[in-house]
Amino acid sequence: MIGIGVDIGGTFVKLYVMNDHGEIFRQEKIDTEFSKGASGFIAQIGDFINAIKAEFADQRVAVAVGAPGDVDPHTGVLRYNPNLKFTNVKDWPLADQLEKYTSIRPYVANDATLAAWGVYETDLKRQGTNVLIVTLGTGVGGGLILNKELYQGSNGTAGEIGHTKIDDPQTGPLCGCGAHGCLEAFVGTIGIKRRALQSAQDHPQSILAKILQGQDSFKVAQVAQAAEQGCPEALAIWKDIGHYLGIGIANAVLLLDLDTVVLTGGVSGAAPYFMPALKHVLESQQIQTPFKKLKLCISKNPNMGGVGAAMYGIYRAQQELRK
Ligand SMILES: [Zn+2]
Repeated sequence: MIGIGVDIGGTFVKLYVMNDHGEIFRQEKIDTEFSKGASGFIAQIGDFINAIKAEFADQRVAVAVGAPGDVDPHTGVLRYNPNLKFTNVKDWPLADQLEKYTSIRPYVANDATLAAWGVYETDLKRQGTNVLIVTLGTGVGGGLILNKELYQGSNGTAGEIGHTKIDDPQTGPLCGCGAHGCLEAFVGTIGIKRRALQSAQDHPQSILAKILQGQDSFKVAQVAQAAEQGCPEALAIWKDIGHYLGIGIANAVLLLDLDTVVLTGGVSGAAPYFMPALKHVLESQQIQTPFKKLKLCISKNPNMGGVGAAMYGIYRAQQELRK
């Protein structure tokens, strides 16, 4: 069986072709075509799928598409997506249109959800029964595997750990979603930047302030670099991030009694600096049972969006064949 994974981003579409042994034998990154509208975009992806279909005419080809924003996995409709600029994407029937073009019914889901499946297959080899995957980047996303199956919730929006509240929704820091007090406002890249710039202003002689001064644009890696050089201000920022991330993860573990939590995304690279504070929050919980055997790990495979989509397409197609 062949799986095609399509990872739609605001700038690029990433395409992966895999077989059911987990081998990737093609990957492409193409500029997202906005000028020809929605139909041009469908043709762009559809032509790729049709070429693969012709090349592997003797095999079944499964397609899964990961898209950011609000996606309905049952109907394959993109309910809302602010990043696709060719149209005001509201209730766009992506699965129907792509099926019409390729004669393959694609599986469409939120990109973070499919990336989570990729982490589950690649990092965990499907070990772990109830798993939360947290993606730490500009956004803080999540994906859930419950009873060894991808859990998407009633509407396809499950896993939005970044927008669970860990502070007052009136007075807490502002999140990218427009609300206050979300976990993402504390541990997402924008939150880290806010803290780092404030710290540099308050402590202009610090290592962190000096590193930031010489740079045009802010990168989370600069805060990690300062921590590596022993900068107390940078270490304090990471300690806080670990603390808040710990609160968010503890809430999820208490709610779902998870056995595994995997951190992925760019910010997870700074784990050596935030992990002690994170673990401290988990160890300090009054109800200890769900935390005692909890496996907490960092993904070795970043950018699982397209690969996760291809793997999930294959997984679903195999399930259907078994029926
Ligand atoms: Zn939010």
